[in-house]
Amino acid sequence: MDLTFDARETAFRDELRAWLAANPPGTPPHGDEDAHYAWRRDWQRRLAEGGWAAVHWPAEHGGRGATLTQSAIFYEELAAAGAPLPANVLGLLLAGPTIMTWGTQEQKERHLVPILTAEEIWCQGFSEPDAGSDLAAVKTRAVKDGDEWVITGQKVWTSMAQYAKWCMLVARTDPDAPKKHQGLTYFLMDMEQDGVEVVPLKQITGESEFNELFLDGARVPDANVLGGVGNGWKVALTTLMNERSGLAFFLQVRMRQLLDQLVGEASARGLLDDPVVADKLGELHLRCEVLRLTAYRGLTAIETYGQPGPEGSLTKWMWSDTNQALTQLAADLLGPEALTDGAPWAFELLRARGNSIEGGTTEVLKNIVAERVLGLPRLK
Ligand SMILES: Cc1cc2nc3c(=O)[nH]c(=O)nc-3n(C[C@H](O)[C@H](O)[C@H](O)COP(=O)(O)OP(=O)(O)OC[C@H]3O[C@@H](n4cnc5c(N)ncnc54)[C@H](O)[C@@H]3O)c2cc1C
Repeated sequence: MDLTFDARETAFRDELRAWLAANPPGTPPHGDEDAHYAWRRDWQRRLAEGGWAAVHWPAEHGGRGATLTQSAIFYEELAAAGAPLPANVLGLLLAGPTIMTWGTQEQKERHLVPILTAEEIWCQGFSEPDAGSDLAAVKTRAVKDGDEWVITGQKVWTSMAQYAKWCMLVARTDPDAPKKHQGLTYFLMDMEQDGVEVVPLKQITGESEFNELFLDGARVPDANVLGGVGNGWKVALTTLMNERSGLAFFLQVRMRQLLDQLVGEASARGLLDDPVVADKLGELHLRCEVLRLTAYRGLTAIETYGQPGPEGSLTKWMWSDTNQALTQLAADLLGPEALTDGAPWAFELLRARGNSIEGGTTEVLKNIVAERVLGLPRLK
């Protein structure tokens, strides 16, 4: 593909750069998760006021109808400005586009604007203790009661549930369906009700980014079924396919910044003269560059298939591998300084462990690349 920007793309980038220069993001507070999240919520509000919260959404829903390349530019520029992702990232990237694809007019009118402004935060209630990679195995039940559904079951790893007003919930409505991916329904569930309990999980970093979600008789009106009863698998695939597109650009720029920082710290310690260190840093430089180019190549795949293709799995796998290698090298080079509780490098090292699990485990991504990109025989 041609990697030079055309006039429209350059104009888009320049307008965004000018806006970021006039509205500097600043630095979110560290140490207090709630304060940090509140800061990011305010940051999203500012982005929304400037018309930048969801560039990939159509203009009629408050976006800019940005092309894929413009979306990539948006994430690259955001990361380059040192800005964090907007608070309602699951709403903007997953819930919004899924509602636009499957929602009724009423659902679109009710939900899209509060997603954009971060007034209502969304979480993703897919994974369960026995259904992660194998999402079709969800056991959470939804039983019809008049014009409502009564939900019982447990979700896990539910990021941001502690702040969420709404949940994208996949539950089983027909336990007798012949195949397990049939008989699932996708619900828009109000989190603020009896029957919904959010229990934080402490991560290795000390943060509680995700939670257990216990559902005991939670109620969802019929009007909040998304995409039809029994159609949950198809609707969930729309959410999953939106999960990785775009973010690859943000993540690769962030990783490049981290690498530049590590090179600076190694240089300050005179370590660049050590050929082993230089070799390892050189390899990471190469991997970052390959990742950037592969992310752009992924745009071609989206243009071809009309949606993110299986090649996106390769970028996710490369990113998690490289980020883990990079943060491990930082720990090796900087020693105890990078491993002290509260040190930024310690956070990066520990947080990177989850990279090869979140958004699809590396083993599952390798299966996808093997079967759907390389055309190798399917796993039995
Ligand atoms: C930071 C973070 C945030 C998350 N946020 C959310 C969220 O907001 N909402 C949500 O719903 N989920 C969330 N998740 C959950 C995530 O999607 C799951 O952890 C992931 O899908 C894996 O599922 P699992 O943990 O049940 O592991 P399992 O699927 O049980 O996998 C266990 C092991 O078996 C391997 N394995 C499984 N199947 C295969 C196979 N077919 N071939 C080869 N190996 C296989 C896996 O690679 C893994 O090593 C989050 C996870 C993390 C780490």
